[in-house]
Amino acid sequence: MSQAGETGTLFVISAPSGAGKTSLVAEMLRADQKLGVSVSHTTRPMREGEKDGFNYHFVSRGEFETMIGRGDFLEHADVFGNYYGTSQVWVREMLARGQDVILEIDWQGAGQVRHLIPECVSIFIVPPSPEILRDRLVGRGTDAPEVVKRRLSEAREECRHVAEFDYLVVNDHFREALADLLAIVRSQRLQIVIQQTRHQRLLSGLSDVNNNPA
Ligand code: 5GP
Repeated sequence: MSQAGETGTLFVISAPSGAGKTSLVAEMLRADQKLGVSVSHTTRPMREGEKDGFNYHFVSRGEFETMIGRGDFLEHADVFGNYYGTSQVWVREMLARGQDVILEIDWQGAGQVRHLIPECVSIFIVPPSPEILRDRLVGRGTDAPEVVKRRLSEAREECRHVAEFDYLVVNDHFREALADLLAIVRSQRLQIVIQQTRHQRLLSGLSDVNNNPA
């Protein structure tokens, strides 16, 4: 439950496809019950094993364009020829309630969010080598070879934007990368601007200790 005036932190996580971002975020959510993740809208076809409303809200291009027109998105981008976007209302409501929110979005969306919410914390995840990235993209087996090729070139493009992010996490060992991500979240929550609001009463009591003898 949020205290008055407390707002949540927005964590923007980007990575080239195949860096392990989705598995890491799923584990972050399990490890830290105070984190929520935004479910994006997309026009790309549903993959096997995906669920509408859980992995994404799957919509048509027409529906997506109507939503753009209504200003429903905090950010949106064309990624691999499909639209992806983050719900403005959902994210703003969660943050206003003091809920920390993760956005799993591409570098274009991350740039838009940074512009709108400069206090967001942005994290970039990379695989430990280009060879491993290639193996992971090919090994997934869900996409046609030309799609894999395009994803590799998109991955290179995504990685060119690494310097725009606040943190870099290398996903060599899953558990270590997870610990790094959770450490970023934890240290963010301990920042003085956040702690001062959260512990207002404690801090004013402590600074007024002479008037408050035990
Ligand atoms: P995939 O189709 O493999 O799930 O995702 C492809 C790319 O789209 C990933 O880089 C993912 O982070 C990005 N993406 C997913 N949702 C959003 C979103 O709401 N906005 C933006 N800008 N990118 C997104």
